[in-house]
Amino acid sequence: MLTLRPEDIRLGCQASDWRDALDQAAEALQAAELVAPAYRDGLYAREAQSSTYLGNAIAIPHGTAESREHVRATGIRVLQFPAGVQWHDGERVHVLVTIAAQSDEHLDILRQLTHVLDDDSVAQRLAAAESAAAVARLLSKSAVEARLDADTLCLNFPAHDVRELALAGAARLRQLGCVGSDFVAAVAEHAPVRLGQGLWLATSGRGVETPALALATPETTLREADEAVTGVFSLAADGSAHKSLLERLFALLESGAGQALRGADAATVLARLSGESTTAHTRLARVLNAHGLHARPAKQLVQVAREQAVPVRVRLAEAGGQPVSATSLTKVINLGARRGQQLAFSAEGEDAEAALTAVCEAVSSGLGEAVLPFDESREHVAPREDDAPPPEPLPADEPHPGVAASPGLAIAPAFVLQTPRFDYPERADDPVAQTQRLESAIREGAEQLEALVREARGGEVAQILAMHEEMLQDGELHQAAREAIGEGASAEAGWWEAIETAAQAQERLADPLLAERAADLRDVGRRVLGILCDVKLPDPPDHPYILVTDDIGPSDVARLDTRRVRGLLTARGGATAHSAILARALGIPAVVGAGPRVMTLEGGTELILDGERGRITPAPSAERRDAAQQRLAERERREAEAWEARFDEARTRDGHRVEVAANLGNTAHAADAVARGAEGIGLLRTEFLFMAHAKLPDLDTQIAEYREALDALDGRPLVARTLDVGGDKPLPYWPVPQEANPFLGLRGIRLTLTRPEVLETQLRALLMAAAGKPLRIMLPMVKDVAEFRTARQIVDRLLEEIPAEQRASDLQLGVMIEVPSCALLAPSLAAEVDFFSVGTNDLTQYTLAIDRDHPQLSAQADGLHPAVLRLIEMTVQAAHAHGKWVGVCGELASDATAVPVLVGLGIDELSVSARQVPLVKARLREFDCEEARTQAGLALAQATSEAVRNVLEVR
Ligand code: PEP
Ligand code: MG
Repeated sequence: MLTLRPEDIRLGCQASDWRDALDQAAEALQAAELVAPAYRDGLYAREAQSSTYLGNAIAIPHGTAESREHVRATGIRVLQFPAGVQWHDGERVHVLVTIAAQSDEHLDILRQLTHVLDDDSVAQRLAAAESAAAVARLLSKSAVEARLDADTLCLNFPAHDVRELALAGAARLRQLGCVGSDFVAAVAEHAPVRLGQGLWLATSGRGVETPALALATPETTLREADEAVTGVFSLAADGSAHKSLLERLFALLESGAGQALRGADAATVLARLSGESTTAHTRLARVLNAHGLHARPAKQLVQVAREQAVPVRVRLAEAGGQPVSATSLTKVINLGARRGQQLAFSAEGEDAEAALTAVCEAVSSGLGEAVLPFDESREHVAPREDDAPPPEPLPADEPHPGVAASPGLAIAPAFVLQTPRFDYPERADDPVAQTQRLESAIREGAEQLEALVREARGGEVAQILAMHEEMLQDGELHQAAREAIGEGASAEAGWWEAIETAAQAQERLADPLLAERAADLRDVGRRVLGILCDVKLPDPPDHPYILVTDDIGPSDVARLDTRRVRGLLTARGGATAHSAILARALGIPAVVGAGPRVMTLEGGTELILDGERGRITPAPSAERRDAAQQRLAERERREAEAWEARFDEARTRDGHRVEVAANLGNTAHAADAVARGAEGIGLLRTEFLFMAHAKLPDLDTQIAEYREALDALDGRPLVARTLDVGGDKPLPYWPVPQEANPFLGLRGIRLTLTRPEVLETQLRALLMAAAGKPLRIMLPMVKDVAEFRTARQIVDRLLEEIPAEQRASDLQLGVMIEVPSCALLAPSLAAEVDFFSVGTNDLTQYTLAIDRDHPQLSAQADGLHPAVLRLIEMTVQAAHAHGKWVGVCGELASDATAVPVLVGLGIDELSVSARQVPLVKARLREFDCEEARTQAGLALAQATSEAVRNVLEVR
């Protein structure tokens, strides 16, 4: 945040017109060596976009985003024009707060200045100020108001006298952290002062952290000095913050309405102390807008208030602040109302009721934004962003945890990339030109994406970028943006509004995967915004680095220069975010969701990033660094060796065969998997194929795609999982009603069985594509044998229908073990299925009742939990008793610690991401069956996953 020093201020300036004033401001910045001369043009360009006049005779000239390159250091210069200057928008300006900012620091200045806008006398005082210090004081002083809200009220307290009530109020302020024990002691020392009308006041300035006013009222009738007690105020005074509150209290007493507080509820007390007249009509309305009463909805509210026949005032219902005019935009914005908070409107006179109905209806209907009802039982009032204390810097040489998102170890300096901010005018009066600008930016964005798709040459990266391309062509998005532009928005504002509305609609579906789709949408949106605003990301260093960023969009990951990026660290995000999936596909070690503290890292700080354990260590000691370096060298040596031996069969040291296959989402990658040594495809996630199409792919399309994988496999087996969508993984063209718990809802086999014709086409395509080739089909999310039997009937019918020479003959039909019931009932299933494949990702989620995408909990969803291992043990025992094989295709299969445990439990096949195939094969060669059985036994005997990892790590 920028602070204002007296030497930053020039007093007594004179200017012939606004241009002269702006030139002087540019010259002041230049003289202070904050900017290059060319920044002056940026100041003019910004004024041409829209005036920087703020209100109360203050303008805040600052450059455009493009002119930031001329900023040498961030700073401000204040110029006082006692005689005033006519600004180009007709306003009179006495003070220019001129900003040289490399990012959006001007927003901080704006925030600091909002209090100035509330006080109409500030303009004259700024003009007349005779010292730089006085100007600095006027601009910097933030208006602190003593706290008074529902929490500082202590109503119906069981007290015996006014002293006890005073102490109850003081104790309440202490509980709220407004005062320390000194204050309570001070209140105890003196009897409260009698105010009349049954009210008393106890005051002290001792131990005050935040000025505040408490009111305690008695539970039963209480008399003191022959007067019935209404209540006792305890005032924590500091400076003049409580002045306006006391003025309102005395006004209440003067009007003789003090007794109205007797026995009153919190809402009435706050209304009276806010200065609301007893004759006023009042009405409450809850703010429903996701981002509270920000500029756009506030503007709508002001418009509705202005249309009313009587003045309407408004305040936050839960606080005792003075009501402000609902027709003042800055005052309405400064209420800072957040989603879920109630606004108390008041008006007087004959038309009061009609006016209140109009404003309350406008608020309830979202003030021009799409809103959802507020559910008090599930939602809290959104915290104010500024309420959060700034994150603590990370200490040196101490591991800091995050979510392990992509394995590997990296040691490199940090390159901290702050999320780009876009600076643009909200309004524009040339809709045709704005629409053209937007269209050309969309075209350029699509071209960029196309080029990236080409560079990515297939794979998850290309798939996600292609999805972005499709999103960019979404006609509804274009239409929404065009409509906003038609209503006077600039191309940037119209586009972003359309993107935000669509993204929020996705997020409202309240499940993490859809929320990640919202991230994709915003990613696409930012690409176009970047083109419109000509904002380019800072160039990364030309040496290896670890990218540190708040969150990273999938296309940002795809853009990463893999020759230099050694690792990826993000403050937000989960292991299943698209960006994490891409990091794994690109082989970049990644730790995600490590919290806001990572953004305090200085660029260039050396980091050790451990993508396996999910932790980072900033500025490591030489000792720690050497150890990590050794691990890295050892890892590289093992990787090289593993690569050399990738085509050797996977066997334990004593020759026990365990097949190692690859998990794929894209049939085009099958050849690459084989080239990495995969002995088959152990899990083809066919839903990716469905997601890549705008409608259900028909039989021929599916046959062609499955054939691509089968041809590349050249006789190796393909395990294809039938469509696993629904609930948390939606298919846009297969809408599923909103569910409270999508992970427990219509997904996997449950969903496909609701449209058996879709399942049938898929099965037919698989069978026909695999003529003469080994095919295994497995069903996702099965809970018991009944679902398996239903699907089996369809397969049996198809086998009869399709001529034998046109379909697979080497066929097995199995189920995934993902739901605990299936493992518990494995004996009944094992008799009928051909094989099992354990999906440890879902099995862990359902066994431990931890959402696998949960931002805080997912790190605890460890497949090495003994409860999960027992279910795997039961599954293997049942399968082997019937001579059936068992694979593991969840993430656990590539966990180096888990591999011997799984083999010890009797697992026959491990299916892992293609990149991991050589390493998992190498891991198998490191132990023998006896060692594996010992490790499995040890693991099963533990009580927690931490204990399992501890006991295995020391071996
Ligand atoms: C699993 O649940 O472990 C699994 C392999 O399936 P997916 O991750 O695709 O849900
Ligand atoms: Mg699964």
